[in-house]
Amino acid sequence: MTFLGTSAAVPTKERGLPGIALKREGEVILMDCGEGIQRRVLAESVGLGNEMTILITHLHGDHVAGLLGLLQTMSLSQRRKPLNIVGPEKLLRWLRVTSELLQIGLTFPIRFSKAAPGTILRTPGFRIRTAKAVHSVEAFAYLVEEKGRPGIFYPEQAKRLGVPEGKLWSRLQKGRTVTAQGRKVTPSEVTGPPRPGRKVGYSGDSRPSAGLTRFFAGCDLLIFDSTFGGKDADKAAERMHSTSSEAAELAKKAKVRKLALTHFSARYTSTTSLLREARRIFPNTVAASDGLAIEVDYPSS
Ligand SMILES: [Zn+2]
Ligand SMILES: [Zn+2]
Repeated sequence: MTFLGTSAAVPTKERGLPGIALKREGEVILMDCGEGIQRRVLAESVGLGNEMTILITHLHGDHVAGLLGLLQTMSLSQRRKPLNIVGPEKLLRWLRVTSELLQIGLTFPIRFSKAAPGTILRTPGFRIRTAKAVHSVEAFAYLVEEKGRPGIFYPEQAKRLGVPEGKLWSRLQKGRTVTAQGRKVTPSEVTGPPRPGRKVGYSGDSRPSAGLTRFFAGCDLLIFDSTFGGKDADKAAERMHSTSSEAAELAKKAKVRKLALTHFSARYTSTTSLLREARRIFPNTVAASDGLAIEVDYPSS
């Protein structure tokens, strides 16, 4: 996954407005679409023709103003594949009105899902789950869960059961029963237990909450609102954001594996102090920066 923009509310020279791209085997999940996202998408080779799902957390300009331009570019490049968009109900209204006024003739269908708590969408590679965030407007957090993988294949075991290497092995690896030397061999005889997929959570703009702690439990990577540092904790509470320490507390309680801080207020030219504060509570924390790419590790099974 790659951070396309890591600033809050307004861009700075170093940081663009929110956007995160998750890429896996020709599929892209784009989380939030701040203004300026198009050039970042190009710079990071996200690939707008891909199987794609866009998750919008809430209708504040810094998270959504880039979406229209993105749709226009996709149409100019003759995208045909349907595009999944998940977001608050009002997003669809905004899209309809603006694309009509600007006469953007979409060349592809939009499959819109209204965000609501629960499982909202299944894509070829992922299950998308949603929970309520705690912000000054209706806002949602997302959990992107990779589909599980079959268990580890044991070639020695397959040989012992008389299954010759080749087509039959690949069938077993895909979870199908085969017949070798007149005997049925099931996948469970030659593979380990199924392995879970990876889970990435994204808070969008939010205060920490018990609900989000439960929602993000056990994430392999949690990306959380860290608009402010500890000395601006009052501002975080007042404006319905989080400090980096609050993000770290939640990560610790939710027992996630790794935390990425993002959505930094423009007042911080450097995010070092925010990172230091968070690491005191949750050591496996990184501060996102525009262009930062993170390979999400598989949970050890
Ligand atoms: Zn924001
Ligand atoms: Zn906001």
